[in-house]
Amino acid sequence: QEALRFCRALAALTAQAAPTATPDPPQLSVVIPAYNEEENLPTLYSRLRAALDPLDLEYEIIFVNDGSRDATLSLLQQMAAIDPRLVVIDLARNFGHQVAISAGLDHSRGRGVIIMDGDLQDPPEVLPEFIAKWREGYDVVYAIREQRKEGWLKRTAYTLFYRLLKQVASIDIPLDAGDFCIMDRGVVDLLNGMPERNRFVRGIRSWIGLRQTGLAYARHARYAGRPKYTLTRLIYLALDGLISFSYLPLRMISLAGVGVSIMSILIAIFYTIQKLTVGLSPPGFATLVVATFFLAGIQLITIGVIGEYVGRIFEEVKGRPLYVVRKVWGRE
Ligand code: UDP
Ligand code: MG
Repeated sequence: QEALRFCRALAALTAQAAPTATPDPPQLSVVIPAYNEEENLPTLYSRLRAALDPLDLEYEIIFVNDGSRDATLSLLQQMAAIDPRLVVIDLARNFGHQVAISAGLDHSRGRGVIIMDGDLQDPPEVLPEFIAKWREGYDVVYAIREQRKEGWLKRTAYTLFYRLLKQVASIDIPLDAGDFCIMDRGVVDLLNGMPERNRFVRGIRSWIGLRQTGLAYARHARYAGRPKYTLTRLIYLALDGLISFSYLPLRMISLAGVGVSIMSILIAIFYTIQKLTVGLSPPGFATLVVATFFLAGIQLITIGVIGEYVGRIFEEVKGRPLYVVRKVWGRE
């Protein structure tokens, strides 16, 4: 059945007009990370072509296979054999969404570069609008998710996260803007030149500044397949965003320290007064237990928060490469 699906997809691909090779460098690169996206790729490809072909500009599509375990890679290879505008970067294992995007950006050559998901949540049909805005002279045109077609729990979590991030981040990260965007070559080169390993692309993109603008769009539901981000990975991504872009957690530790100190002074005053008026009351077992646990809790949280930062420093200091490429198709 798998083979049948595969053949059908290939037939659909070859049925379209024969593409011609792009000049080097092309005007536009589209970077798409793909992790187990076999069901989405054929539709994605035809919808991309439907959106980009009429625009009369030379483009390349860079697929990054992020260690997929399904037919994604072989499908991509076949597609690249048919369409010379396709570049396929096969990573040595699953490195994660943000790193896959970085790998794609490193290999892109276009004057403008688009980042989009491989599950059709970012509809290719809005790309012409992006390109138009970019041609107006913006360095970054990012997509703002106006509505989401995901479960309410996920939607609420996203909404809360983006508001929290905006409150605490030391830079202005736009609300509800994901990775879906078009960037000018200059911005891409700056991004590629950044050494940091904890990649939160939408954050470092904002950090760069220059002329940026948002474009609202309706975020679709996944076309097929299951989301590749598990809850834990989403929480890690959120932590990456919060910790890489704010000192707030560290400040909260200092604040907690000040709070506890003030509390201890108040308690001392209370006991002094008690001793001078009604006399000291020896039984204090409950108080002691609560106080001990409370302080131990605060100290552990403090160590944990500091540990988050130290761990990230350790990651950066090791200076390992961001990703390993097994093979590249569609480019000499
Ligand atoms: N993805 C990836 N590596 C991963 C996880 C996801 O390259 O380890 C890709 C995935 O194929 C998709 C995009 O990143 O194209 C977004 O993933 P997903 O749809 O699971 O995330 P969500 O839309 O739920 O944020
Ligand atoms: Mg998705």
